[in-house]
Amino acid sequence: MDQAYLYFDDKNEIFSVHGSAQHEYPLGALVFELLDLDLEVYLTHARILLEQFRNVEFSEKQTIPESLAHPDECVYYQVASFYHTMSEAIRKEAPALFDLLESFCLSACRKFQRQMDYYSHALRQIQLGGPNDTQLSADDLYRQLRHSGNLTITSELMENFCRTFPETPATMKQYIEDGIPDVSLCRTALMFLEDFISTLKNLIEASEDFRTLAQATLVSDNGRPMMEARGQAPGSLLASLAQNQDAVYSKYHQMENDIHIQTRLLTSGGGNRKSGISAAVFFASDNLPALIFLEYIQMCSANLSVAVCEHCGRLFVPFGKHAKYCDRVWDKTSGATCKDVAAKLAYAESLKSDRAKELYNKTRNRNQMRCSRAIGNAKMKRDYEVWRDHARLALAKYRRGEITWELYEEIITQSF
Ligand SMILES: [Zn+2]
Repeated sequence: MDQAYLYFDDKNEIFSVHGSAQHEYPLGALVFELLDLDLEVYLTHARILLEQFRNVEFSEKQTIPESLAHPDECVYYQVASFYHTMSEAIRKEAPALFDLLESFCLSACRKFQRQMDYYSHALRQIQLGGPNDTQLSADDLYRQLRHSGNLTITSELMENFCRTFPETPATMKQYIEDGIPDVSLCRTALMFLEDFISTLKNLIEASEDFRTLAQATLVSDNGRPMMEARGQAPGSLLASLAQNQDAVYSKYHQMENDIHIQTRLLTSGGGNRKSGISAAVFFASDNLPALIFLEYIQMCSANLSVAVCEHCGRLFVPFGKHAKYCDRVWDKTSGATCKDVAAKLAYAESLKSDRAKELYNKTRNRNQMRCSRAIGNAKMKRDYEVWRDHARLALAKYRRGEITWELYEEIITQSF
């Protein structure tokens, strides 16, 4: 499977995954999803698994069917099961991040393929009679080549199993039929688990870092977009982060070395381009935080408006100047979003204050009437004014939720 490539088109981002499929998300999807996800539970689970299998002596003779007969003790079954559970949850809650993670799953395989290329290139150099880059003898190079080749195959097998779980992948059938021992598959599964752990650790760390970066350039202390709250453009705030060599900024800026780019020619939707062909620069990396940083840079340079949802406290892109709530599903059973829930609450709130206002108006009218009947009674007029001030204050307090309905009613209906 190919690596996932990421391409930015103004306020959209396009992921080119599985070769030809393209997924489009609004700009900011990766950063928002990363901040929303709770990856700690998966990290804990992965560490428990590693503890369980780290020191196991894998049998040199055991075959795949023999191992799969005891799934609890089979390391590749457990690792694939772990990946499956984690990826299903992430696919649902963080589809953009999932696209990257899915392609990352193959990174081990890619790494060994690169090693193979490296050793076979050195072997060719020897065959041509020249010195080779590795300084290794031909025998050693063959040994290394075989080792990387084995790891490439078992990584691919492992990767496929992660995807097809609980079914065993078609590629595993040959191994099963030939009765080949699974010891190297067991070791590869442990390596996958270690990779998952370090990826999860990096993403959890990145989540804190991107929260800090978002607060530095995108969203102000009061939870509103930087431009609206402070009149500062995210792009220029980003430029000052870079200029001041901000520690968090620099950490991710350095990771840009891990990103590789690929130009792809797009033939559709040329728009203003006469030929109908446009060149787009796609980015790919096995370093996921590096790609998320790239998105963050794009968010700042596009001066994206980012606010904190007043209902759930998560980041979102407000549609208009007055949008306070996000579109995330808040109530999973009814499918109601923060916006829906907030509207309902606001309605209930308005009914509540209507009832309070009604009581205030009714009592005030009655009191006013009493005053107007008692012409010349200065004391009553003063008492009425004191009452009115108290009543207004109580109404405001009740609306702010500072006093209960019972207390409010008592204050309002106090006679003078
Ligand atoms: Zn929300």
